[in-house]
Amino acid sequence: MEIINLPAERGSWQFFLEPYRPFPPARPGQLDLDAFYPASQRAYRAAGRAAEQLTEAGVPVVFSPEGNYKALLGGLFSAGKNTLLYHPEHGSRFALGCLFAEADLPPSPPLPRVQMPCSSCGACQAVCPTGAISEAGFDPTRCLRALMKEPDLPDDLAERSGNRLYGCDLCQRVCPLNREQTAPPPQELAAFLEIPALIGKSLEGRRVLAPLIPFLGRNYVRPRYFLCRAACAAGNSQDPALLPAVRPLCGHPDPPVRHNAERAVRKLSL
Ligand code: SF4
Ligand code: SF4
Repeated sequence: MEIINLPAERGSWQFFLEPYRPFPPARPGQLDLDAFYPASQRAYRAAGRAAEQLTEAGVPVVFSPEGNYKALLGGLFSAGKNTLLYHPEHGSRFALGCLFAEADLPPSPPLPRVQMPCSSCGACQAVCPTGAISEAGFDPTRCLRALMKEPDLPDDLAERSGNRLYGCDLCQRVCPLNREQTAPPPQELAAFLEIPALIGKSLEGRRVLAPLIPFLGRNYVRPRYFLCRAACAAGNSQDPALLPAVRPLCGHPDPPVRHNAERAVRKLSL
């Protein structure tokens, strides 16, 4: 965990930078989770602990304030064609927690700026499955990270969403500035990434999904969303062995879950 203090008007921003290694690509039958999400929770908790300590010391603090962190840090970091910030050691593989303190925290020394080879590279543009990165720039409305917030995707996007649960990191995987050493997800998390297991546990409800909260945060542990994504991923898997797990969802009362399941059953029955 690296801490960056940025002076501001009437106080200081404090950022908690948590580097992470990507998870290896999921194997068939598994959902793919971007390792950014668990790292983001660790960064969030670090900022929360620091906010408590500052508060106890009598410093007024806003924990996890609204704001464009990328823009705030833009003076220190270079950005890639995918608009992600690049750290000299961790590339784009880090998550941020943040607080604002009404105190003059000692400013952090500037980091060496990463020289971006984007103008002669374009690897992220070539691999992006939705055309979110183009010569015209980055279109966040076309990025899967944003599009997948909607659980009931149209057929073409559903296909392109592959086996993802949350996030897409293809543009980071191909970036020459990322030293891509993977590390497997912890066992407690991996147990939830098997498609049939996630369907079963999501049908049992939020209580059974509680072990995911430290990895994803409370707001991202959403049984209905999980059912949609698990069914969609099963449909994209070309693995008929997943049919018994998905078929019962065709009678689910929630229309997006039903729609994803029906599409998956159609695709797996071809
Ligand atoms: S993949 Fe290439 S073009 Fe894209 S951010 Fe990385 S260096 Fe820049
Ligand atoms: S995260 Fe995925 S969809 Fe978004 S820009 Fe990168 S490759 Fe494209």
